Amino acid sequence: MDDTTSRSVVERARAVIPGGAQTGLRAQAYDLGEVAFSESSGPTLETVDGEEFTDYHLAFGPIVLGHGHPAVDDAAKATIDDGVLYGAATTALEVEVAERVVDLLPSAEMVNFCNSGTEATYHAIRLARAYTGNDRVLKFEGCYHGWHDYVDISVYPPRERVGETHPESDGMLPEAVDHTEVLPFNDAEAVVEAFAEFDDIGAVICEPIPHSVDCLVPDEGFLETLRETTAENDVPLIFDEVITGFRHSARGMQHELGVTPDLTALAKAMGNGYPVAAVCGREDLMAQAGGDNTSGVVISGTYSGHPVGLAAASETLRVLSAEPVIEEITALGERYREGLDGLFSEHGIEGRVVGYGSVFSPQFGVTGEPQRYEDVLGLDEERFVAFARGMRERGHFFTPNPYKRQHLSWAHGEAELETYLAAADAVLGSLPV
Ligand code: PLP
Repeated sequence: MDDTTSRSVVERARAVIPGGAQTGLRAQAYDLGEVAFSESSGPTLETVDGEEFTDYHLAFGPIVLGHGHPAVDDAAKATIDDGVLYGAATTALEVEVAERVVDLLPSAEMVNFCNSGTEATYHAIRLARAYTGNDRVLKFEGCYHGWHDYVDISVYPPRERVGETHPESDGMLPEAVDHTEVLPFNDAEAVVEAFAEFDDIGAVICEPIPHSVDCLVPDEGFLETLRETTAENDVPLIFDEVITGFRHSARGMQHELGVTPDLTALAKAMGNGYPVAAVCGREDLMAQAGGDNTSGVVISGTYSGHPVGLAAASETLRVLSAEPVIEEITALGERYREGLDGLFSEHGIEGRVVGYGSVFSPQFGVTGEPQRYEDVLGLDEERFVAFARGMRERGHFFTPNPYKRQHLSWAHGEAELETYLAAADAVLGSLPV
């Protein structure tokens, strides 16, 4: 059994794991050559054959403090020593993290833990539907909320399906798709019209900053209209803060934007890489889950509230609250964006650099500010892949998918910025204009 080279590990993976990786998006990394990772530390990833990369992928976003943050890892290890899983009653740790979330997020009055963002959005929608007694879910084109049938719809629809409900996967329940209404992001009028047209809306779900298509920034008034319209109709507004929560603000994007949803889905940066997620929100909505598993809203899961994930979350939230992490990664993000922007101009490259806070993404072949999904449909994928290839060859790792943003962690600094921009200068200079 050869596990000494990335190529041999990926070859074995292809025989026993569909696509050769746990998700199709992960397997996309192989488009630039096989890679199998064995170690990570700070801003760095290492492959089984000892190749090192600066990591801008950061596991699709969770790693906010850097790989292997000592305080987070120590807390997780100490918890393992105490006991891995109780799965009965509650624990003091669970209560402490729930209290922290309640203290931090404006929308959080009560909290339920789970293990993934997908579970968190599923629970949120079930709570909202139970409260309203209505089935229809409003979501926005280009927003990803996980892989379940309620929401894996119109995330990346092809141009000819824009404006329709487009299931992203085979095998989805047609009724779930039929009960979904898809609207363009940043279209406040469409939201008001949808409420005028349908009297069976049970939930509205939205990423406050849609990062599933790199980055769309909400127009002034859009989220406010969403808030007002849902409140007028007494339909719960769900913010999916799986990416934004604890990456753009320790108090959630809702705090920065001054728009408080009824329910919030949290995951990713909450545990700096450990599997932990949560749904939180208004007490009356959340309390529906306080039954005995045969009545009210059932929220369940053997591993929900897993001590190891919660220990990581406790420490990650403590660090994010006590240290200037968000300020520093946000300021660094600005410099990556400015640097790339300057290089695009210098090399006469048609494109733009989008992003927010510690998230950035160079987009080729498009100009102007993207406001909705349609504005990212024309990205020049070939150029992006060529850019990703050149950057990979120079030691910088990110997925060669133009819709997948790059992230920074607290372990990234001046040295990483300098080498990234030097590499980008060389790569952009080598692309045909
Ligand atoms: N919501 C958003 C905004 C996400 O980006 C993701 C995952 O990328 C999810 C939900 C689903 O989270 P998970 O992959 O933990 O199930």
